[in-house]
Amino acid sequence: MKKLVLVLFLLFLMNLVSATPAMPQPFENCMKYDNNFIENVKKDATKIQVGFVVIDPFNGQIKAMVGGENQIFGRGLNHVTEIRRQPGSAMKPFIYTVAISNGYYPTFTLLNQKFDFHGWSPSNFSENEYGGYTTLRSALAHSFNVIAGRMTTSDIAPPNQVVKFANKMGIKSRLVAVPSIALGTSEVTPLELTSAYGTIVNKGVHVSPTSIKKIEDRNNILIDKFMPIYTEAISVQTASVITNMLHSVVTSGTGRGVRRYFSYPAAGKTGTTQKYADAWYVGFTPNLVAGVWVGFDDHRIKFTNTYGQGAVAAMPIWSKFMGKVYKELNIPIKYFHIAPGVVRATFCKTTMDLGDPKIATSKCPETVSDIIISKDMPGKCEIHPEDDKIKKEKDKNSSDW
Ligand SMILES: [Zn+2]
Repeated sequence: MKKLVLVLFLLFLMNLVSATPAMPQPFENCMKYDNNFIENVKKDATKIQVGFVVIDPFNGQIKAMVGGENQIFGRGLNHVTEIRRQPGSAMKPFIYTVAISNGYYPTFTLLNQKFDFHGWSPSNFSENEYGGYTTLRSALAHSFNVIAGRMTTSDIAPPNQVVKFANKMGIKSRLVAVPSIALGTSEVTPLELTSAYGTIVNKGVHVSPTSIKKIEDRNNILIDKFMPIYTEAISVQTASVITNMLHSVVTSGTGRGVRRYFSYPAAGKTGTTQKYADAWYVGFTPNLVAGVWVGFDDHRIKFTNTYGQGAVAAMPIWSKFMGKVYKELNIPIKYFHIAPGVVRATFCKTTMDLGDPKIATSKCPETVSDIIISKDMPGKCEIHPEDDKIKKEKDKNSSDW
């Protein structure tokens, strides 16, 4: 009997052990093995986010803004006003603005080759994008990083001057004055970047963006009104030359894709950050300025491939919007104008290819026509002098002995 009781007791103990629930797993392990939770996190983190804003550059009024998906007023992250991201190449117009303001011009040429500046050596997007002396116009249109880098590492567009200009043009975020500012390494909000591009089309005057004109009570008594702040940022001539160069981005550069959806006059710049983290397109027409940012809320999530380029991910949103808004609102076609003081000149291609552009004479075998601020005009080509008097003199002298 005693034996039976013992066996029964042992059996009971064994049962107890096997019935004891497993020791509680640590909290993080529970989450790790919760497939539902993992799937939700993945879905949320990899959700593509978009910020899109349209501003009237002449009075600063925000005409349209999409800060996020299914936004309830006052809730959710506004991807136009509340995020700060690197603008990548969308920063380049400010570098070129400084250069033009410093007396350089669209046909000025720089060597499109890698260089090393105290260990900093930027690269172009692809290996087949290097060459000889390249014009500033072409370098901006094709977004050559090495040319922008040569500008911020020389007196063409020194970083501290770029910061000063960008601030005056509407960038309020803190920009770091280092050569890599050429590649847009300081973070900005889509609203300020778009607003700063508005300075270019508004003849050099920045107008602070406003979303509310006035507040009245129920009896129409004015409680408050909001007036934009106007700041003269750059000269009308510099603004005109940059507008013209950004127009080339759309006609023959990285912004060509705009033409798939919008055929009216347009200028702008694409931006793609490292490892395709952020895709940008900011641009304007003679009526409106608009900016698009596409990316992820979690900085660690990136597009990882070329579909994350500004031209692929962001630009179609801009151009489809413009195509539709011009059609539906029946906005009449307007053109960009060249400002007084900006003239067309003919340059000697030989001198451009040698990195020292000169105005062409009638003897220059190959010439390039482009605009330039009249006060910045270089001297005449001396390789192909107007008449060969000097040469004849030389020849005569040499034949004397
Ligand atoms: Zn010449």
